[in-house]
Amino acid sequence: MVIDANKCCGSGECVKACPEKALSVVNGVAVLDESKCDYDGICIPACPYSAIIFEDTEPGGCGF
Ligand code: SF4
Repeated sequence: MVIDANKCCGSGECVKACPEKALSVVNGVAVLDESKCDYDGICIPACPYSAIIFEDTEPGGCGF
């Protein structure tokens, strides 16, 4: 998961949506605690600014 700090307005909608309490707003920007995140993607549509992106970080991975 990647949070685009330029798009994030710190509304906290993702914080409310996350069942794992993996997100918080720090200094007006959403911050992800990867140790709590289970990558279910629930927060992605919750963000009104499309600031959360699911990104496959495996080298060479195509995402499928
Ligand atoms: S992917 Fe799921 S667990 Fe991870 S931050 Fe988003 S809502 Fe929370």
